[in-house]
Amino acid sequence: MKRRILLLAGGQSGEHEVSLMSARSVLGALPRDRFDVTPVVISKEGRWLPPTETQKALESGAAPTGGDLVLHRVASAEGYDAVFPLLHGPMGEDGTVQGLLTLAGIPFVGSGVLGSAVSMDKVMTKQVLASAGIPQVAWRLAVRREWQRAPQAVEARAAELGFPLFVKPANLGSSVGISKVSAAAELRPALDLAFSLDRRVILEAMTAHKPREVEVGVLGNDAPIASPVGELRFEADFYDYETKYTEGLATMHVPADLPPEVSERIRETALRAFRALDCAGLARVDFFYVEETGEVLLNEVNTMPGFTTTSMYPKLLEAAGYGYSELVTRLVELALEER
Ligand code: ATP
Ligand code: MG
Ligand code: MG
Ligand code: MG
Repeated sequence: MKRRILLLAGGQSGEHEVSLMSARSVLGALPRDRFDVTPVVISKEGRWLPPTETQKALESGAAPTGGDLVLHRVASAEGYDAVFPLLHGPMGEDGTVQGLLTLAGIPFVGSGVLGSAVSMDKVMTKQVLASAGIPQVAWRLAVRREWQRAPQAVEARAAELGFPLFVKPANLGSSVGISKVSAAAELRPALDLAFSLDRRVILEAMTAHKPREVEVGVLGNDAPIASPVGELRFEADFYDYETKYTEGLATMHVPADLPPEVSERIRETALRAFRALDCAGLARVDFFYVEETGEVLLNEVNTMPGFTTTSMYPKLLEAAGYGYSELVTRLVELALEER
């Protein structure tokens, strides 16, 4: 019997377009002899588009408006065996859609409410991983109300970390809203930008030296596997949006050229983080490797990483023996697995 799969893409976050790119790849790769796949694009306003509008959005690469109220469409999603919520960022990767699908009783690919919500929020992630003894950079939290009422207190807290530091919306991805701040005078615009995108902002100490950026793909539910370690190389000051999505500005190296002991430490830490955060299905765990000091610092966990055929996560799993089609098939199987 063919499994009926609902593929959700687009969504309300700053990663709407990235999600549609991933969706085109996944749609092309789910084997048609095993799956009946229906894509539904979610507009930037959060409404679920009917079939013809979905097709148009997939072709044009964006859906600013249109669609029905979410709850109407979820009720009609009951006829599916599983949902693949290929959504990045808030209102998609953060436990909200996962909650809706849990209530509707439909199995879905990836982490549940808890793992999604905690992993999306960079501060919650750091708190959970710190309690699991996983090394990370120093950080501070700031909330919007504080920034509006007592900006000096937020600036003083930032200064405790020293410069340069990173200012990030706590719940986002693709480097949207992230600034590297080199001096106190640059703090204000960086905080204004981050708070325009999120109520919670994380301030992070920069690694002691420009780090090597290495990533691991994790696949599985309660007995997950870790891929070989991959590395991203680029000329830019940090891995910003432009560097991520402009052809030729960054290169991926799998496996990364690392001492075997370091690779093993990174892979083992990725699995510990996956478990500590109660992730499921898949995650891309990103690290900083500071060559000068030998430190491996966990940067973040992405529960629905970029998923085009040329994205890092599929490349990492390819190195672990999973072709792209095989990988998406495996993810649906994991969604349907008894836990
Ligand atoms: P993704 O698209 O992977 O979800 P993101 O938007 O969640 O990314 P981060 O991975 O937290 O953002 O940060 C983006 C980039 O900024 C990193 O890949 C790195 O280049 C740089 N960066 C972030 N934090 C630090 C730090 N504390 N020290 C050094 N570089 C950092
Ligand atoms: Mg991220
Ligand atoms: Mg992300
Ligand atoms: Mg990242």
